[in-house]
Amino acid sequence: MPNVAVINGKFMPLASAKVSVEDRGFLFGDGIYELIRSHKGQLFRIDEHLQRMERSAQAIQLDLRHSRKEWKGLITKAMERSRIRDSKIYVEVTRGAAPRSHAFPQGVASTTVITVRPFEPIPERFRYRGVRVITTPDLRWGRCDIKSLNLLPNILAKQQALESGAFEAIFLRSGQGSEATSSYVTEGTSSNVFAVFGDVVVTSPQGPTILSGVTRDMVLELARSRGLKAEERAITSTDLFQADEVFLTGTTMEVLPINRVDQTAIGKGKPYRTTQQLHRRLIELMLRP
Ligand code: PMP
Repeated sequence: MPNVAVINGKFMPLASAKVSVEDRGFLFGDGIYELIRSHKGQLFRIDEHLQRMERSAQAIQLDLRHSRKEWKGLITKAMERSRIRDSKIYVEVTRGAAPRSHAFPQGVASTTVITVRPFEPIPERFRYRGVRVITTPDLRWGRCDIKSLNLLPNILAKQQALESGAFEAIFLRSGQGSEATSSYVTEGTSSNVFAVFGDVVVTSPQGPTILSGVTRDMVLELARSRGLKAEERAITSTDLFQADEVFLTGTTMEVLPINRVDQTAIGKGKPYRTTQQLHRRLIELMLRP
């Protein structure tokens, strides 16, 4: 069965999967999600994704209905039934279907959805040429650490990037207090951002302004294990333009070099040595988890 869906524990072809028009995911974006990959029939970093899902659910008082072991069982079964070896698995949980009212519905079970479809890799040429990104003001709310279904600012910024011929948009927030004149990078619309200065690899610190990526954590660890310094600190917009290398990380992007931010070329045309090294290490991890 290719392209599988599992709705509230029931398996079916993705094409026939449906949820109610009164589902709060549809009405309010009242829910959370995760994207997990399988590589050669193996789930990659499933525990880390489920742990983040539990954290997101707890932050919005959402009942996940299943233990971690049960989720793993369901996701594994869905992946196996699809027979797709390199897949993209979305897990979505909403606060259930109920007549429209902002208040939490009483006695209503959450809706759980798992979908499995083939993973489409980023074109290889993007990896050696790098991608162009734009910067845009970060208009999102104060809990970007929750992987919520509410992605409107992300969608609008991604569309803005695509319409200007770029691949991704990087969000900038303005500084506070004495730093009010400078702006700093939070993250991409579906990625985290890293900048490289010599042998120092820097990414924005964990906190309410970013979604702390599973890939981000792996890349920090890989950098340290390669003898690089890895720092979690604010990257100002000036830092970004002056970095030797800038790259994006994420479940689908892996480690993706950036060649241009707005009108500025990054790294004076040098090859993306550190970026490519970290990407190779990440792929090795996927091959030998
Ligand atoms: N930030 C945002 C806003 C994202 O949507 C994603 C992709 N899920 C990431 C960062 C990267 O997270 P991960 O490495 O876990 O895919």
